Amino acid sequence: MRTVIDLLLRNAVLPRTTAPVDLAVAGGVLVPAEGQEARETLDLGGRLVTPPLVEPHIHLDAVLTEGQPRPNVSGSLFEGIAVWADRVPDLTHDDVQARVRKVLRWQLANGVQTVRSHVDVCDPQLTALRALVELREEVRGVIDLQLVAFPQQGILGFPDGKALMEKAVDLGADVVGGIPHYELTREDGVASVEFLMALADDRGLLVDVHCDETDDEHSRFVEVMAAETIRRGMAGRVTASHTTAMHSYNAAYAHRLITNIKRSGMHMVTNPLDNAVLQGRFDTGPIRRGHTRVKQLQAAGVTVAIGHDSVMDPWYPLGYGDPLQAAFVLAHLGHMSGAEELPRLIDMITVDAATALALPENRLRPGDPADLVVYDAPTDVDALRLVARRTLVLRGGRVLARTEPARTTVTWDGVEEEVTFLR
Ligand SMILES: [Zn+2]
Repeated sequence: MRTVIDLLLRNAVLPRTTAPVDLAVAGGVLVPAEGQEARETLDLGGRLVTPPLVEPHIHLDAVLTEGQPRPNVSGSLFEGIAVWADRVPDLTHDDVQARVRKVLRWQLANGVQTVRSHVDVCDPQLTALRALVELREEVRGVIDLQLVAFPQQGILGFPDGKALMEKAVDLGADVVGGIPHYELTREDGVASVEFLMALADDRGLLVDVHCDETDDEHSRFVEVMAAETIRRGMAGRVTASHTTAMHSYNAAYAHRLITNIKRSGMHMVTNPLDNAVLQGRFDTGPIRRGHTRVKQLQAAGVTVAIGHDSVMDPWYPLGYGDPLQAAFVLAHLGHMSGAEELPRLIDMITVDAATALALPENRLRPGDPADLVVYDAPTDVDALRLVARRTLVLRGGRVLARTEPARTTVTWDGVEEEVTFLR
């Protein structure tokens, strides 16, 4: 007897291909599409389909606070930290939840189904973390939220910093964070990494550290993270974010470091939007780009994902929570315009970002969950070029977000014609 499946998606184009295929959904998972009869059929018209986007690095507690309590006039990282420190006392449970709910909707509309958010725990009340722990339950089944206990002002350099980190973990943080380059001394930075790795190891948690986010070539805490990951056998569970100082290391040291990162099984996250505007601030020219060594890390076999970092906060006044916009920027700043590199940028916001967050693999094969995203573009490179809108976002075969494709016409010599921006 033939069974009727739930949904058939006709004419989908998968990454790195151009020929359309059909995708079939039954019971929330993908099944072989041949010869299937479905209750509902959608013709995607030759549009790109990818696994869900994954946001591996954002600060949800700070989103939409740009200008509060005052603007960041210089636009620098350090003025941003000072502005944020003055905003933290005004945080309330409802204020955090209202802003985060809005941005999570933006992210979902952009196809994001998993978000790792750093949450500042340099607050004796831990107001933002409590609000986000509650929201994590509210959005379960729609967006998976991973919360990082992030000590914005340091662990050893902030009053009761260690106790706050432990309390944050007790309250339900999934991931242990840190900021060693911001501690008072090099020794404190090393001690902070040793402390946070032990905390994560003891509690069976993941690690994601803001590490070496500076142009100082002497900032060398990723090596401490790699050493601790090797000693503790925490391969696959540890991520270093930003690591912009790597840009300025000498080639011999960078080679040794990348070899040890690979050996440790650590993952890396680069944040091209924020770091494009925050790094190189002390340079008078030439101004360094201040990004980590993405291509060298990838060539060594290290997983590198792209994070958005900020949406309209004291550090970055722009953005609408779209990882594709961050990938577009990295294509330029990371010299990733090569024919093999452009599709890689889509991996870095989907499957590679999933790996960085220790999520199960989804390659849109039969048996994988029917979690997927449809773009208003015919190929992966066109999606990147146009920063194309996502027309459909499915999770377990259910539609979670929908966008009507824009239609543009131009009137020339009295004749109105449609423009698609496709060659
Ligand atoms: Zn960050």
